[in-house]
This record gives sequence, C-alpha cells and structure tokens, in this order.
Amino acid sequence: MTAPSDLSCDRTACVCRGRVLMIPRAEDFPVDDVAVDVLVAGGAAAGLCAAIAARRRGASVLLAERAPLALRGGNTRHARNFRIVHDGPADWVPDAYREDEFVADLERVTEGECDLALARHLVRASASIAPWLADNGVALQSRDAGVLPYSRRTAFLFGGGKAMVNALYATAERLGVRVAYDAEVAAVRTHDDGCEAEIVRHGARERERVRVRLRAKTIVMATGGHQADLDWLREDFGEAAGRLVIRGTPYADGRGLRLLLGLGAQAIGDPGSAHMVAVDARGPRFDGGIVTRITGIPYGIVVDRTGRRIADERADTRRTHYAQWGPRIAAAPGHIAYLIVDRDGLRRAGPTALPPVTAQALPDLARRLEVDAAALADTVERFNTAALALQPATRPVREPPLAAWPLLPGLTFTRYGVRVDGAMRVVMRDGTAAPRLFAAGTLVQANILGRGYLAGLGVTLAAVSGRIAGEEAARATTV
Ligand SMILES: Cc1cc2nc3c(=O)[nH]c(=O)nc-3n(C[C@H](O)[C@H](O)[C@H](O)COP(=O)(O)OP(=O)(O)OC[C@H]3O[C@@H](n4cnc5c(N)ncnc54)[C@H](O)[C@@H]3O)c2cc1C
Repeated sequence: MTAPSDLSCDRTACVCRGRVLMIPRAEDFPVDDVAVDVLVAGGAAAGLCAAIAARRRGASVLLAERAPLALRGGNTRHARNFRIVHDGPADWVPDAYREDEFVADLERVTEGECDLALARHLVRASASIAPWLADNGVALQSRDAGVLPYSRRTAFLFGGGKAMVNALYATAERLGVRVAYDAEVAAVRTHDDGCEAEIVRHGARERERVRVRLRAKTIVMATGGHQADLDWLREDFGEAAGRLVIRGTPYADGRGLRLLLGLGAQAIGDPGSAHMVAVDARGPRFDGGIVTRITGIPYGIVVDRTGRRIADERADTRRTHYAQWGPRIAAAPGHIAYLIVDRDGLRRAGPTALPPVTAQALPDLARRLEVDAAALADTVERFNTAALALQPATRPVREPPLAAWPLLPGLTFTRYGVRVDGAMRVVMRDGTAAPRLFAAGTLVQANILGRGYLAGLGVTLAAVSGRIAGEEAARATTV
C-alpha cells in the first residue's frame, strides 16, 4: 500500500488532510542537567495550554508529564465539552451566552464560595479560548452537525478530550516545547533569580527510577487535584474512601499540591469536598471515564444494601441529577447502593456500558444483589402503592424483567488547591504572590468553585488559567 500524497510525518506526528492521525512514541527526553526558561508540571489541558502559551511568547519550555505517553493528558482525556462566553452564534455554539450570565451561573451553583473578581477575569478570558484552541490544532464540533445535544453554553470537542490532548501535544512539540513522559516533578525550590526542580523519571521497574535536577526561571504547576491519592482521601472521607471510584487519571495524586503547600502556598477549598456522581460499581477503580456513569435513576428506585430507599429519585430529573447521588451513596451503609428498574424503566434508562443484573422476580433479584429480600419487598410495595396514586407522573416498579445496577460514588475531582492572583501567580500564606511560581487548572479550581459544578467548567478553567499562567510565566522570565 502506498502512502496518500497528502500524508506528512515527522518525529512526533503523522498528519493527513490537516488531521493528526497518530503520534508515535516520542524520543525519551534526557532531563539531566537542563536549564529552561519555563518548566510546566502536568501534561493535561492546563499544562499544555501553559506550555504552548509560554513557548509562543518566546520562552524555552519543558513540560514534565507524570504519566507515560499512552496515558498522557490526565482527566482532560475524558472530557467532552467546555463552557464559553459568546455574544452571538459561532461555528461551534448557537445563540449567545454572555459574561454576566456565566458569572451569575457560577455565583448560583457555588452559593457564594467563589472569588467573584477572579471568576469574572477567567470568564471574560473564555470568550477567546475556543478560537485559541482551534488555532492550536484542537478540532471543535460544528454546531450544525447535530450529533450532540443542543448546547448554548458549551462547545463540544471533536473526537473528545483525547483528541484535544493529542492535538495540543502535537502543536506543543511542533513549536519546540520539550516533553518528558514518566516524569514527576517531585521537588521545587524558588529563590530570587530562579527555581530548581527535582524530576523523578519513572521506569517500568522501581530500580529504573532516576532523579534529575532542572533549573528554570519560572514554574507553572498544573498537576490536577488529589483525588487519586486514596490515603489522602481516607483522611477526609474516612472509610468511604475505600469504596470511592476515581473516574479519571491515577496520576492526579496531589503530590504537586502538597509540594506547593510545603513551599508556603495558601490553601483554598476543602480537602473533604469533591464532585461525585453515581457510577457502576463493576467499572474500573481508575480511569473509567464517562461511560460507567449511571443516569437512569429517575426511572426506578435506589436502595441501600439493607433494602431501604435513600432519597426521592424523582426530586431532581435534570440532566445533572446523577451528581446529587455520589455523596448519598458515599453516606449509605457500606457506601454502596442499587438502582432497580422494571421493564418500562429499563427502556427509559437506555443502554449502559455494563449490562444490568436481571431477574424475573424480586426475591431472585435481591439474592443476586445480596440485599435483604424481605426489606426490599416491603420497600417496593410501599413505593408502588404511592406511585399508583401518582400515575402517570410516577410509575410503579413491577413489570418483569426487573433489572439492577450496583452503584458506587464516582469521584470526578477534589475541591482543594492553592490560591492564585489574576496572573495565576501562587499566593503565599503571608498574602504575597510568588513572582516565579504559577498554578493552573484543577489545582486552582477551588478559587472560583468552592462547591457545586457547571457542565464544561473544568476544561474551560484549565485552558484559560493555563494560557494565562503560561503567558505570565514567560513574561516573568525577562524581569
Ligand atoms: C470522567 C470525566 C469527565 C469529564 N468531563 C468533562 C467535560 O465534559 N467538560 C469539562 O469541562 N470537564 C470535564 N471533566 C473535568 C476535566 O477533565 C478537568 O477539569 C480538566 O481536565 C482538568 O485539567 P488539568 O490540566 O487541570 O488537570 P488533569 O486533567 O487532572 O491532569 C493533571 C495532569 O498532571 C499530571 N501530573 C500529576 N502530578 C504530576 C507531577 N507531580 N509531575 C508531573 N505531572 C503530574 C497528570 O499525569 C495529569 O496529566 C471531566 C472529568 C472526568 C474525570
């Protein structure tokens, strides 16, 4: 087979008809005895945008990504859409979503746990982030393609977060950003004329671990939250931590956050607060992404392992209802629950990644789920009696086949990080901003999202704060 004439390949990527097709393994970058202008720690949306922005400002940049090449890109790999300000229709969003409306939405969901001045600054910057990402190779879904839900507030990534990550890595490397994989930024020191970092290169085996020193004029930390550190989660979530499913990367283990706190950075948010949704208990412990989320709760009943209902399943039927259920499941006995539907509920719930447990009769289902059969029968009978009076708004659960999904709390991100100013400089405990130390992404999310969530905010915040941090970190190398 001959290669198409419009196919071009270099060391990092193959491009065909303007699209990145594949990225072969990058050459193993030796990070020993290296000096750069800007060191970026973390290779997901925030770190990539910071690296590209700094490089475009003329700085030499090294991006250290803790994950191996195949798993690069953190939680950004799992994202689908991001929220942007726009005053009128654009290629990727219909209608308008203005700055004041975005800020008001943030104020509402955070119930005041939000630095409003910083929020407005970042929201305003979101107006130009979609074209900036597109200029840097990220493909966005056309609003007229009609394959995704109508969304006035969010733009959809063509090919999802993984395609975004691949495109940004290809652009970064084309611009001359040096990328090191399996590279953990493990220690950071700052002084008046620059910074030093210790980077641990992780090999396949423990004895292949190498520590190297790196000098940089400025550092951008973009290492995500601490949701993948199960021991840290145990400190704040207690025994429930043992049942938490981490929906994203196992590499966002909070070591970058601990590093900053150790340097005297001001903490912000609550280490015991996290965005949690209901996920299928049979999914993987890490990196299950969006496909293990269970969204059919309003079509059935949710019981704990004693067979009792946990809350009103129909009190919230918005598309985001599943985010109410993560904390409820975490608080249930054994930190597990079961969604039970009948034939009608099964049809409405739609397909799931893993098929439900099914049975023709309730005692058999109870046995399969290891739920107390007598209590479950009583719960279902009481629910059906009430539902019959409320029909058709509430339907009983009785027509076989009966189906069930075991549910665990699925943690998306923690709400704990470091305080930053408008230039994304890390604010220290004495209130001063560190001139050479910047942070972006989930690490700074708690500045504007002390509680709640808005769909598409994670990627927007990562991209916008990363871009600002990269530009400011490059600027600070010249002062
Ligand atoms: C299942 C799922 C679906 C989501 N869907 C959406 C969505 O549709 N829209 C949206 O806006 N948001 C979504 N989010 C949230 C969004 O993915 C994140 O908010 C965003 O990706 C955060 O980017 P980040 O760069 O700050 O950090 P992360 O994506 O968390 O990545 C952190 C990076 O830092 C690296 N790292 C960690 N420690 C070190 C270290 N010491 N040294 C070097 N590197 C290190 C990690 O390897 C990783 O690459 C979703 C999240 C999940 C889990």
